[in-house]
Amino acid sequence: MEHNEFINDFPILNEEMNGHRFVYLDSAATSLTPECVLEKMNEYYRHYGVNVHRGVYAFGAKADAEFEAVRDQVQCFIHAGSREEIVFTRGTTTAINQVAFGYVLPKLQPGDEIVTSMSEHHANFVPWQVIAQRSGATLRFAPLDQSGAVTAEALRSVMSEKTRFVALNHMSNVMSALNDVQALSQVAHEFGAEILIDGAQAIPHLRVDVQAIDCDFYAFSGHKMFGPTGVGVLYGKLICLQAMEPFEYGGAMIDQVCQVSTTYKDAPYRFETGTPMIAEVIGLGAAIRYVESLGYEYIQTRIEMLRAYAMEQLAQMPHVHVYNPHNYESATIAFNIVDVHSHDAVTVYDLEGVAIRAGHLCAQPMLSELEQGSLLRMSLQVYNTKADIDRFIAATKKASDFLDVLFL
Ligand SMILES: *Cc1c(COP(=O)(O)O)cnc(C)c1O
Repeated sequence: MEHNEFINDFPILNEEMNGHRFVYLDSAATSLTPECVLEKMNEYYRHYGVNVHRGVYAFGAKADAEFEAVRDQVQCFIHAGSREEIVFTRGTTTAINQVAFGYVLPKLQPGDEIVTSMSEHHANFVPWQVIAQRSGATLRFAPLDQSGAVTAEALRSVMSEKTRFVALNHMSNVMSALNDVQALSQVAHEFGAEILIDGAQAIPHLRVDVQAIDCDFYAFSGHKMFGPTGVGVLYGKLICLQAMEPFEYGGAMIDQVCQVSTTYKDAPYRFETGTPMIAEVIGLGAAIRYVESLGYEYIQTRIEMLRAYAMEQLAQMPHVHVYNPHNYESATIAFNIVDVHSHDAVTVYDLEGVAIRAGHLCAQPMLSELEQGSLLRMSLQVYNTKADIDRFIAATKKASDFLDVLFL
């Protein structure tokens, strides 16, 4: 079998699932975690695992230094203007909720409009729906093109002087279409609106430069870019963060607490309530180093090659319908096997030791656009190999045969 040079970096690749070598094709849900990230988190717990921002002893200072160094690292990684623009959150979902409830909702008036699209993950959809309902604002949807992307013209077609806020993805999680977020930010700003970019799918695959994009907010999760679960980042322009209200109140975010009133720390610390996810933030730092050591060009080239190899073979299979065939640079293939329910199909893959995703993919609005109740999605990451694709294709054949068995 083909040697996988990533086998030492990702110990989980040595596992078996249902009696077969584990083939992981669900990285758009969460990526596997490399040894260097596991090691860095262990090092924290083993050698200096105490709380941050309060220790008056050496280990506390060490934890603090390691934790805060990741803020600098993230600033550099996404090219933010200052370290104060980096807020650590539990993930993309929490970051978006913080902006929706702490920044946008307090400003909304009945009749105002928020613009999003039907290709958003539920995390970048439901919060806007809720704050629109609470404030009497209206949610509008930028139309999608064939590939599932929102173009600048499409966004412009739903913008007006009533638009207060725009929330769109950088790369969608079903079709994996890439949005030109720089152009989208420009359109939002032309109308005097602000824009949040959901970068959860983009950051594992391409270099993000928040100043070049000129977005007001950018959100992503650690666990889709080789980091641990439970940590993410909210980038916000300093002027926006300074105007944002906390979403949570309590320890760590306060300045002075008196019986009748409390003052808060400045951004970003005002938004980091209670004991943070210390090991996870430190692990995120190691994940960023891992991405940098591979380089985005390498990751992208390898994924494009693997996707093309898979697509070539799927094209020979008449029962397979692919929804995003021309998104060549994407890391996902969204498909269905005609007349086989995705939940039946995924059982076949599972028994073959191949992990892919089935269901609504946290994107029911997108599925309704595609007029599908459920989909299959295979998604790639740098540690996948041609041998993985061969296993995927073999399982796809088995799942299609399942159809023949049913009808014979
Ligand atoms: C996964 C994902 C999210 C949610 O991320 P969490 O880490 O679960 O909070 C949001 N948006 C997109 C596009 C995603 O792929």
